[in-house]
Amino acid sequence: MLRIALPHKGRLAADVRDLFRDAGLEVRGLGDRALTASLGDEFQALFVRAADIPEFVADGAADAGVTGWDLVCESERPLARRLDLRIGRCRLVVAAKDDGAVDSVDGVVEGTRVATSFPRLTRRFFRDRGRSVSVVPVSGATEVAPLLGIADVVVDLTSTGSTLRVNRLREIGTVLESTACLVTRAADEGARDGRARALDELASALGSVVAARDKRYLMANAPRARLADVQRILPGLNGPTVVDLLDGGGLVAVHAVVEAGAVYRSVAALREIGCEGILVTRIERLTP
Ligand code: AMP
Repeated sequence: MLRIALPHKGRLAADVRDLFRDAGLEVRGLGDRALTASLGDEFQALFVRAADIPEFVADGAADAGVTGWDLVCESERPLARRLDLRIGRCRLVVAAKDDGAVDSVDGVVEGTRVATSFPRLTRRFFRDRGRSVSVVPVSGATEVAPLLGIADVVVDLTSTGSTLRVNRLREIGTVLESTACLVTRAADEGARDGRARALDELASALGSVVAARDKRYLMANAPRARLADVQRILPGLNGPTVVDLLDGGGLVAVHAVVEAGAVYRSVAALREIGCEGILVTRIERLTP
């Protein structure tokens, strides 16, 4: 049994569980206060705080973990990002009072008080820019620090920017872009034992779900005479699949994997060249 550390609650927990479920690894046997649950036949989920996951994996209490890249970087533990799960997208930003004098990172002077729950990343960010700031460590509600007068600047996570705006802060720089990721010990990279194989299989199962999420499967009946146009509209992974129809007349069936965000454009373009019976479906998993 390999142990996979997963966030037990908080922003990432539900999305991570959904992703594992879609990869065929449903969390089973999780009581209200359970710390572990089975995850398919080969894995055991270990539920802990997102911020503790880098530590659990680095110390060997878990074989792999899923948490925010921001927390992995802040931990400074020797971990390898095995897979970007493309969920929990956010940025760690530097923000200052929107009516204050500081409007860029260059304007942050020596000794400025910077409130953050990411003290290591913050120190490194300013040190790399030749500035020594005074870091004020906080464990939450960082954005209120300037209002309380305990800091002039904050380094905080944001996704939409609305919390910063509500607290009358403006972004003046980006420290890091983050998404949730699957991490393992850096020292395990290149291992070829049974454990490494199981982790590879886990990464590829999750990867196939992640890859499928922003793709759609499109099928249409197309005039055989317009196949060159179809190929232009539907490049697909290897170009569209073309299948004969039993009583198709001048029509053939074309199938292709398309970008979800561009599917409406493809459909419109296909209709324009005389395609009919256009069908778009979700894809569960995609292994290129
Ligand atoms: P938690 O503290 O358990 O809610 O998890 C916080 C993690 O969720 C962070 O470390 C980020 O990786 C991720 N996250 C995604 N969007 C945001 C956001 N807008 N604010 C804070 N954390 C976010």
